Amino acid sequence: MKAEILSLNIDELKELFPEPKYLAGQLFAFLHEGASFDDMTSLKKELREFLNEHYVSNPVKIRKKFVGKSGTIKYLFELEDGNLIEGVYMPHDYGNTLCLSTQIGCRMGCTFCASGLDGLLRNLSAGEMLGQVIAVNKDNGGSVKNRAVTNLVLMGSGEPFDNYENTLKFLTLVSAEKGINISERNISLSTSGLADKVRTFADSGHKVTLSISLHAPFDELRSTIMPVNRKYNVKEIVSAARYYFEKTGRRVIFEYTLIKGTNDSDKCAKELARLTAGFPAHVNLIRLNEVKERNHVAPTEDATKEFLKKLERLGVSATIRKSLGNDIEGACGQLRRRYLEENQTD
Ligand code: SAH
Ligand code: SF4
Repeated sequence: MKAEILSLNIDELKELFPEPKYLAGQLFAFLHEGASFDDMTSLKKELREFLNEHYVSNPVKIRKKFVGKSGTIKYLFELEDGNLIEGVYMPHDYGNTLCLSTQIGCRMGCTFCASGLDGLLRNLSAGEMLGQVIAVNKDNGGSVKNRAVTNLVLMGSGEPFDNYENTLKFLTLVSAEKGINISERNISLSTSGLADKVRTFADSGHKVTLSISLHAPFDELRSTIMPVNRKYNVKEIVSAARYYFEKTGRRVIFEYTLIKGTNDSDKCAKELARLTAGFPAHVNLIRLNEVKERNHVAPTEDATKEFLKKLERLGVSATIRKSLGNDIEGACGQLRRRYLEENQTD
C-alpha cells in the first residue's frame, strides 16, 4: 500500500522535501485543496511521478452519496484498505457543517448506538479524518481559499478520545493557515466522557466546543446504557467538564439522547438540572434515532418538547437538536451497516 502524506504537517513535509524551500508549503496547500498529484502541474514532472509512485494524495474516496431533504448529503467513503466510513454534510444559513468519523466502529458499546454494534475495527489516522473534510469540501465546490465546509462536528462513528493522538493532530492540520483553515471555534468534538482525556485535552491548548454525551444523570442508569460509565462515572465526567470550562472559557455542551421510559423521568430532569448548574453548560436534547438491532424506543416529538420545558423550568439552558440526517440514515453508523448488509456476498 502507498504511504499516506495527508497526516503530515508542513515541518514533516519539509523533512521529506527540503528543497526548494517553498515546496513543502505548496504541497501542503495542494493536498488540502484536494488536488491529485497529476493536478499539481506547477511541480516538476519527476517529482509528480515520485509522489504518484510512493504516496496517495487522499486516502478517502467518495463511494456513494445520498441527498436528503433540506440539502443534507450523506457520504459513504472508502478507505485505502477497503474499509467504509460515513459522514454527513449539512448546509445551514450560518455555514456548512460536516459530521465526520474518527474510528471505524467503536468499542464503547453504548446500547442505543449503531456504530458500536461490531466493536472497534481500527482507528482512523489524522490524514483519514482530514481526507473526509477535503473530499467533501471539494465535492461541494470548495477550495483552500474559499471553503465550502465551514464547521465540523466529530460525531460520526468512533470515540475521538479513544484515538486521542490522531484526533489532536487532525485538529491542528484542519485549522492550519495554509490548509482549509477551519477555526477551532467552529469545531465541536463529542465524547462519551473519557474524563482523564477531557482533562488532558483542556490542558492541550486546543479550544474546540466540547460536547459530552451524558444521556443519564445517575450512575446506575448510565452504566446500563453506556458501559464506559463503569470506568468514568457521572461525577468524574461533570467535574472534568467544569475543568474544561475553567481552562478554556468555553461553555460545555451535554448531549442527552432521550430514550422512552429510560431516561425521560422527572427525576432524571431534576438531577440533570442539578448536575449542570453553577457553570456555563448547555443541554442538547436528541430524540433517539431508533436502531433496528436495539430495542430502545424513541419518545414522541411532543414528549421531547415536554422534557425540554421541564428542563427550562428548572433553569437549564437547553435546546432540541434537529437531526437533519434522519431521512437518510443519519444516525451514527447506520448508513454503513445498511450498506454492508445490502452488499453482503455469502
Ligand atoms: N463517540 C462520541 C461521538 C460520536 S456519537 C460520543 O458518543 O459522544 C455522537 C452523538 O450521537 C453522541 O451524543 C451519541 O450518544 C449520539 N447517538 C449515537 N447513537 C444515537 C442514536 N441512535 N440516536 C440518537 N443519538 C445517538
Ligand atoms: Fe461509540 Fe459514541 Fe456510539 Fe457510544 S455513542 S458507541 S461512544 S460512537
